[in-house]
Amino acid sequence: MAAACQQGRYNSISPKVTLTRKRIEVPFLDLGAHHSPIRSELMDAIHEVVESNAYAGGPFVERFEHAFAQYCQTKYAVGVGSGTESLWLALKAKGIGPGDEVITVPNSFFATAEAISHTGAKPVFIDVSNETLTMDPALLEAAITHRTKAVIPVHLFGQPANLDSILEIAKRHELFVLEDAAQAAGAEYKGRRVGSLGDCASFSFYPGKNLGALGEAGALTTNDAALAQRLRILRDHGQAEKNEHSEIGWNARMDGIQAAALHVKLKHLDQSNEKRRAHAAIYTELLGTHPRIETPSEPTSAEQIFHVYAVRIPNRDQTLDTLAKDGIQCFIHYPVPIHLQSAYQHLGYAKGDFPASEESASQLLSLPMYPELAREQIVHVAESLRAAVDSQIDQQ
Ligand SMILES: *Cc1c(COP(=O)(O)O)cnc(C)c1O
Repeated sequence: MAAACQQGRYNSISPKVTLTRKRIEVPFLDLGAHHSPIRSELMDAIHEVVESNAYAGGPFVERFEHAFAQYCQTKYAVGVGSGTESLWLALKAKGIGPGDEVITVPNSFFATAEAISHTGAKPVFIDVSNETLTMDPALLEAAITHRTKAVIPVHLFGQPANLDSILEIAKRHELFVLEDAAQAAGAEYKGRRVGSLGDCASFSFYPGKNLGALGEAGALTTNDAALAQRLRILRDHGQAEKNEHSEIGWNARMDGIQAAALHVKLKHLDQSNEKRRAHAAIYTELLGTHPRIETPSEPTSAEQIFHVYAVRIPNRDQTLDTLAKDGIQCFIHYPVPIHLQSAYQHLGYAKGDFPASEESASQLLSLPMYPELAREQIVHVAESLRAAVDSQIDQQ
């Protein structure tokens, strides 16, 4: 009985045991805790923008762009309004549009495909490797047609995609490689920062991302001077000079307050990523030995930053509810792969087309992950998860 209590087999036992269940609040993300130690730095940064009135584009954006390019080991960074805009702008800047195809993966946030569609081009999906959950380079060549113009590998959860193979194939077919690095600021692949690997990279600074603004923001990085210049023109209504619109662009500028806040937060990014990695190591140590819990793989070629720590488990949805009762907030990234979303019905994909993406979509559970997590919270999550999975085995 004592052992049963410890393992949390509460379902079939007396109510007295239910009372002994531990409840520790573990939010999925705690931006308050994350900002608390840098609160005065952030306030000073906002204050400076208000004092100078440089709200849209301008010196704070330029200062952040410079710092972010350096951080990503690239020559240029271009600040924009969001990660969705940055994906779209990069494709637009390469002249990609109606009649073209862009290859990406179905297990990403919807925006990856959405940005392709907004250029008028068609998203073409290929499956991911079951182990890393990033684009499987072995499937790339067969998906290339005379219409293919670009490839968008996604560094999902902070795990860099297998860029060497993707770049080699893309080069042979003269395809533009755009990294979707929205979840991976600071991650490394074979000793190089993501953002510096493809022809261009897209970042999101949505507040919940591992480098998050205090609102919406995004950026692009590249070593291509002509591309950077074109991105700057396109994000500002196609103007190279004031009131001279050489083409039809958009308002996709980054705002000054976001740039100032990001400049502060960038200084702390390496430390934050280090903490994420340390938390992930504890999760893996506590969960990796369980026969029914699959922890994320960590290829030696990559230093991933665990924007998301997701395990694969049976009865995922039931487990999510059980953990919530123990005070633990989890999420699912992403329950429905993009090719099965109703918005993409017209592309004609069907269930079973991408087994690795579909299977992982039904099994993945994202555990609480942010730099300020306490060890006690991580241990509570791990114990609660093990107990939940064990209790399901008992019921069978
Ligand atoms: C968040 C995200 C985006 C979109 O970024 P926004 O800033 O929210 O527009 C694109 N791709 C991936 C993989 C993302 O996680």
